[in-house]
Amino acid sequence: MSERVIPLIEQRLGPLAPPPAALAATSRIVPNGLLADTLGRPLTDLRISVTDRCNFRCSYCMPKEIFDKDYPYLPHASLLTFEEITRVAKQFVAHGVRKIRLTGGEPLLRKNLEILIEQLAALRTVDGLPLDLTLTTNGALLARKARALKDAGLQRVTVSLDGLDDAVFRQMNDVDFPVAGVLEGIAAAQSVGLGPIKVNMVVKRGTNDQQILPMARHFRGSGITLRFIEYMDVGATNGWRMDEVLPSAEVIQRLHAELPLIQLSPSVAGETAERWGYLGADGRHDPELGEIGVISSVTQAFCRDCNRARLSTEGQLYLCLFATQGHDLRSLIRGQADDAALASAIGHIWQARADRYSELRGSQPADAAGQVRRVEMSYIGG
Ligand code: SAM
Ligand code: SF4
Ligand code: SF4
Repeated sequence: MSERVIPLIEQRLGPLAPPPAALAATSRIVPNGLLADTLGRPLTDLRISVTDRCNFRCSYCMPKEIFDKDYPYLPHASLLTFEEITRVAKQFVAHGVRKIRLTGGEPLLRKNLEILIEQLAALRTVDGLPLDLTLTTNGALLARKARALKDAGLQRVTVSLDGLDDAVFRQMNDVDFPVAGVLEGIAAAQSVGLGPIKVNMVVKRGTNDQQILPMARHFRGSGITLRFIEYMDVGATNGWRMDEVLPSAEVIQRLHAELPLIQLSPSVAGETAERWGYLGADGRHDPELGEIGVISSVTQAFCRDCNRARLSTEGQLYLCLFATQGHDLRSLIRGQADDAALASAIGHIWQARADRYSELRGSQPADAAGQVRRVEMSYIGG
């Protein structure tokens, strides 16, 4: 595979798209749950980043050299309050959002997160149903918080874990956190019923790809779905190189050689993961053994079904993980806009959406210095 190095610069504090107040004032969009972007994609999934801070320093996300004690994390006053998040989330739900994922940074670092979960759990979809309310965490604080999260109304969690070998994992999180601590968190989530649980493993060739099989053996038959994520060129600080991406097809090949698999059909439209089920002795998928997922964000773009919007910690709306510009909803939330104006602005922004970065990867223009501007994953949330 050819080596590719992309020079990157950070975009977090870069220019934002103009506040959508003007848009909101021109023609009002009244939410009816049927919003579609320029490619006909509905808005069904909202990811909310509740903090830009983290207690890990995964090299592919928040490398220590950049995210050190001098890094300008957002001041507290910049963060959306729980009331502000809930107010804006409500407008998204009116437009058709059915699933909300809390993320970060590390979402469990946000104080009193249970209060936000309680507020979001009270929202109802356009069909009058409870939301699919979930959270992605590195698991370090999960053992301590699982019960309170469940009691507040969280339905399930996704836990990130990049290997079972303690030395490999400690090196990847770069804060010397042990595997046992995350496994304890997963066990606690399972025991309070925060399921079905998913475990996400980012695969970096030459760093943790030897952990693919041990991870699969460990979680097979546990009721937990393990998902392998291709290392992505997200953000501006991880020094991404194509030769460190292990294509999902190779993950499947390696697994299949020892633990035979069969491809399963997607459970919902717009699902990011391709599903593969473990074969039983009769040569069919054995639900008792469960399934794995592969997320091929680099080698197989899935933009055509991408129904996800991302709300940053300070209330900027991003339409793509690789967006170079956010839309300033906070100025609306903290300004004069009532709920109808806020919903209308969200409607206008989504209707104009044309993002499909993964399909166009490589043809993205660099700026005058030959650099690609991108926002950090820890800021808009994965
Ligand atoms: N801190 C939480 C965690 O790690 O689960 C939530 C936020 S984290 C940004 C969300 C997900 O993004 C994690 O599963 C993480 O592994 C993934 N991620 C971060 N940087 C990535 C990259 N460069 N490529 C692929 N996945 C990445
Ligand atoms: Fe923190 Fe998650 Fe990023 Fe790792 S992937 S540094 S745990 S935000
Ligand atoms: Fe969605 Fe952007 Fe990822 Fe494509 S690249 S799947 S549009 S987030």
